[in-house]
Amino acid sequence: MSNIPNDLSAFWMPFTDNRGYKAEPRMFAKAAGMHYWTPDGRQVLDGTGGLWCVNAGHCRAPITQAIAQAAGELDFAPTFQLAHPSVFRLATRLAAITPEGLDHIFFTNSGSESVDTALKIALAYQRSIGQGTRTRLIGRQRGYHGVNFGGVSVGGIVGNRRQFLSLPGVDHLRHTHSHEHQAFTRGQPAWGAHLADELEGLVALHGAETIAAVIVEPMAGSTGVLPPPVGYLEKLRAITAKHGILLIFDEVITGFGRLGAPFAAQAFGVTPDLITMAKGLTNGAVPMGAVAAVGFVHDGIVNNALPGIELAHGYTYSGHPLAAAAGLATLDIYADEGLFERSAALTDVWADAIHGLRDLDVIHDIRTCGFVAGVEMKPKPGAPGARGKAVFHRAFDDGLLVRATADTIALSPPLIASEAEIGEIVDRLRAAIVAAA
Ligand code: PMP
Repeated sequence: MSNIPNDLSAFWMPFTDNRGYKAEPRMFAKAAGMHYWTPDGRQVLDGTGGLWCVNAGHCRAPITQAIAQAAGELDFAPTFQLAHPSVFRLATRLAAITPEGLDHIFFTNSGSESVDTALKIALAYQRSIGQGTRTRLIGRQRGYHGVNFGGVSVGGIVGNRRQFLSLPGVDHLRHTHSHEHQAFTRGQPAWGAHLADELEGLVALHGAETIAAVIVEPMAGSTGVLPPPVGYLEKLRAITAKHGILLIFDEVITGFGRLGAPFAAQAFGVTPDLITMAKGLTNGAVPMGAVAAVGFVHDGIVNNALPGIELAHGYTYSGHPLAAAAGLATLDIYADEGLFERSAALTDVWADAIHGLRDLDVIHDIRTCGFVAGVEMKPKPGAPGARGKAVFHRAFDDGLLVRATADTIALSPPLIASEAEIGEIVDRLRAAIVAAA
């Protein structure tokens, strides 16, 4: 373990039990393709694409070369009133793969920033078109929209909210998961479209003229992989359109091929007004996020603005040259290797392999959708989350990276995974679940 620093105290780790971690640190020193390596040289198969972001596999040469070249050519250029060529190219390339009509791309540096940017764009749009009373935002229980104030407010995870304050004027739809009606689903569950009708209830309660936007993850990822019921997103789309409410899909996880299409919007055939993205945009190699906006939202803000700045929003690093270079190289790999199509083609192999874990006693539910899975285990009596953590540790120590959310193991391997590697992921997960029982 000689490569592990002696002093771990200064780094205050995000979303981490710092004391527990530092008593028993696990870390990575290297990565390539489907694998990580620990500082002492142990290989770990990546079942999670890092943190849902490394869709093309690790340390891909075209991406690292593009970053290195950009770093040597143009280290930084502001995009406030100035810019550089590659950020325009990336925006054009993104607009070409987003659903039709979502052709305006605003760059950020993370998923959280994308979410708060999308919420601000929604508010600015409503105000621009003379609908300034529309300030209310609606999220959903069990939604994860990052950690900035807008995102935690519309998010539906109490643990991420209670230490802080939330925005006023936010309401939430019920989440769409029901074990009773949806256990062991592959793809979209048949039950639950009617839950979208709750939005009509919120409109009746608050008045449409007070509601700016609804934000949902088309498939909730971080809270355990919850695919949308058949017909649910269509209903949300119809109700929002009917009442002049913008619909935002948070595609930070589902974007870039995870569900077998560029975005979940295309996979599910429902087009929102705004899409947030990050993670797979640069294959995780450089922090970058973006918001894709439909033409009428962009035009509504731009055409109604007073002369000067149209949208008083942006980040120093919006469209950073290194991130733009990484994004362009990443999109090339996705296209050249047909990774979105590959993800679609693997869906059944993946679902068959993962649902094969069903015979284990501790399994409570298994959900698969595209190239994602949530394997929900029964909690250990009196210790919710303990089993998930034990499986995570056991798997890591036996050479497999998974992600534990409470007692659900989430899997989202790089889209380059071979069928043999899929088999290996499932075998090792099975062994870890048995060992940690
Ligand atoms: N939205 C969703 C749906 C996410 O899954 C995440 C991160 N997992 C975020 C937003 C936040 O992204 P970031 O951590 O890059 O801020």
